Amino acid sequence: MARKPLMIGNWKMNKTPAESVVLSQGISNRYNRKWDKVGVVLCPPSIDLRPVVTVLDYDKSLIEVGAQNVHWEPSGAFTGEISIPMLKDVGATWCIVGHSERREMFAETDETVNLKVRALVDARLHPIVCVGESLAVRDAGTTIGFVTDQVRAAFAGLEPAEAALAVVAYEPIWAIGTGRTATPEQAQEVCAAIRATLADMFGTETAQSMRILYGGSMKPANVDMFMPCEDIDGGLIGGAALKVEDFTALVEAAG
Ligand code: PEP
Repeated sequence: MARKPLMIGNWKMNKTPAESVVLSQGISNRYNRKWDKVGVVLCPPSIDLRPVVTVLDYDKSLIEVGAQNVHWEPSGAFTGEISIPMLKDVGATWCIVGHSERREMFAETDETVNLKVRALVDARLHPIVCVGESLAVRDAGTTIGFVTDQVRAAFAGLEPAEAALAVVAYEPIWAIGTGRTATPEQAQEVCAAIRATLADMFGTETAQSMRILYGGSMKPANVDMFMPCEDIDGGLIGGAALKVEDFTALVEAAG
């Protein structure tokens, strides 16, 4: 089954609202017909969502916008959090869930990842479910079991049509922001195992329709190694998403 490639920029805690306008405008200016073949999502900090959506003239643009995190409750006493109704109001349609930085530094667990995925699909938003192993897990030879357990936990309790709203990003923690990438063979092996797990949970047709991304120091110089891999349908990009030239080169390489 042909899956449309997807390139997602995770800006992390970078770019003020004013800077987000410059970056999203720069990316939008480079838009051309080649991009029709690729899904493109920008995930700025939450305070930048409104300016980015406005710059992209969102209703007409084919570039979509996502948040980097969300709470599963619709409102309440959760100081510092943002809710799904807030994302919907601003026009964001995607949301990163379970990024390793949030799992490591902000106590995100498989359980809270599942609550967030559940809440997002209930609102018909698209979760970007991040999974990936530490170097210790890789060295112990338990990567496949570790990552597929994360997938099972994140998608627990979903129906196939709900799961199909999501994408999975395989991001080996040791490759994020380090300049060190997984080899295409390593990435393909894990992405194939993720797809097999999705097939086991939701059936082959759903699993074949879902996009699985690689993330971890992906850049224009190495993207061509990953895109031909059978089970890799694009990238979740950190550092290279902050430069117009690099991000647009990645989108064009995926098309
Ligand atoms: C990420 O933050 O999801 C990521 C993959 O970062 P980088 O591309 O900088 O490794």
